[in-house]
Amino acid sequence: MNKAVFFDRDGVLNRDIGYLYRIEDFHWIKGAIESIKKFNERNYYTFVVTNQSGVARGYYTEQDIKILHNWINTQLTKYGAHIDEFFYCPHYEYGIIKRYSHFCECRKPNPKMIDDACKKYYLNKKMSLLIGDRDSDIICAKNAGIKGYKFVGNDLFDFINNIIFK
Ligand SMILES: [Mg+2]
Ligand SMILES: [Zn+2]
Repeated sequence: MNKAVFFDRDGVLNRDIGYLYRIEDFHWIKGAIESIKKFNERNYYTFVVTNQSGVARGYYTEQDIKILHNWINTQLTKYGAHIDEFFYCPHYEYGIIKRYSHFCECRKPNPKMIDDACKKYYLNKKMSLLIGDRDSDIICAKNAGIKGYKFVGNDLFDFINNIIFK
């Protein structure tokens, strides 16, 4: 069985500016690339799990998200790092785009994005973890049955070395 790290995106890998979708607005959190690379080298699958209700709210499209995520992986490749798969939930009960505006089991803190990854990649939950910056991320990890770490500070690499790889 395999192990994985699930990164929340906004506020963990990049600065959370709210409803980010433009590449020019993407700014890496200090230490994020090194952190992803370290998990790559330690044979973790690396995933992003991110709520993207901006789609249901009509702020941007799924295509915008895919372009941004492809760009992120292109940047990571330059450093010998990668994200294995991006999972996102475009849904939101109170959105305005009808086909996205409903309850979704994927929307954190619901655990379906993690559960789906666990099945698809044969993950050992005991060896897998999530890093998020909100309580809802930590609740999501708990709901999925994996360990959750709430990122604090301003350097993700310091954080993982002090808390996870200590
Ligand atoms: Mg976040
Ligand atoms: Zn969804």
